[in-house]
Amino acid sequence: MSGELQAETRAVHSATNTDQQHGAVMPPIVLSSTFSFAGFNQPRAYDYTRTANPTRDALATAIADLEGGAGATVTASGMAAITLACQVLDPGDLVIAPVDCYGGTYRMLTRLAARGLFRLRFIDQADEAQLREAGRESARLLWVETPTNPLLRIIDLARMRTLADACGALLAVDNTFLSPVLQRPLDFGADLVIHSTTKYLNGHSDVIGGAVVARSAALHEEMAGWANVLGLSGAPFDSFLVLRGLRTLFVRMRQSEANAAALAAALQASPAVARVFYPGLPEHPGHAIARRQQQGFGGMLSFELKGGEAAARQVVERLRLFTLGVSLGGVESLSCHPATMTHLPLGPEGRKAAGISDGLIRLSAGIEATADLVADLQAALSALV
Ligand code: PLP
Repeated sequence: MSGELQAETRAVHSATNTDQQHGAVMPPIVLSSTFSFAGFNQPRAYDYTRTANPTRDALATAIADLEGGAGATVTASGMAAITLACQVLDPGDLVIAPVDCYGGTYRMLTRLAARGLFRLRFIDQADEAQLREAGRESARLLWVETPTNPLLRIIDLARMRTLADACGALLAVDNTFLSPVLQRPLDFGADLVIHSTTKYLNGHSDVIGGAVVARSAALHEEMAGWANVLGLSGAPFDSFLVLRGLRTLFVRMRQSEANAAALAAALQASPAVARVFYPGLPEHPGHAIARRQQQGFGGMLSFELKGGEAAARQVVERLRLFTLGVSLGGVESLSCHPATMTHLPLGPEGRKAAGISDGLIRLSAGIEATADLVADLQAALSALV
């Protein structure tokens, strides 16, 4: 695929017209777990699907291309991708992670650190004093998520590269919330980019999957090797579905973003709403950084209701087009009440420290008609005033 073509075009054409046998336009799905040897001591390109598989490779090539990496390793889930990235760690190594990282990442890092697999330090990556102090540490891995969940805080990727250099660390960025359509962390010096492909890359809420993209060929080889050793590789059928989802990633992302912007404006106009968290709003504290490092503001937003938990309950129960559920990035809109769902394990004190109130609702804007989503949200909010 020519590097001169635009990313939208490459996402559509990646691995098409490669079938030699039937001339299938779309790459055929290869489910076989094992591949015959051509003869005694004559392995072919593929021998066993845990190690490598043509369908999974087609997806990996497409993701690596969109992120601008040397290679991608496709995994069975986003958590498997995070587990894979952590294989760069040896006992005693320090991981610096954000206080407000995804709950599953927090759980995995804290539990493995408690078993002595590595050392762990959480910092607020938007706090310059904490960044300066962390810069005096020697670390192996700096973990970053931007925008953060659920408050959509923006972390400065260029500043994270400086911090990683000061610590001698690899910089790993979880790019699940924006996808390579809106943010390419490797352009800002990341060494690894992590995805839960469960979200925008697949986009249809019917696959659990992940990927690790590496900047260098050597790091990619290391990741691919560990995926085989540990058995973290993604399934061929799931890879086929995610590759199909990837064809429409750009148009889905644009529609989700347009919907999120319209929803943010509607929320700002509502007297029932205390605060709106959407990086596209000029008054959002991370707006200037987002403009610098993103190609758009994404399809995720959250808002705080003046009426606290009772109001939040009323709104999510009145919404008809936003399904109450965890996850994000699908064609269908979702609502989430972090205090009773994704961020329940933090406890009241933890949530207070993280700035997550009982009146906070997170929305994943799908690709439905903008007017329908806005009308649905306005109707749900009108019950409160
Ligand atoms: N990273 C982020 C930012 C996520 O939101 C999630 C899931 O919600 C994950 C990683 C984990 O991905 P998965 O659920 O596919 O294992």
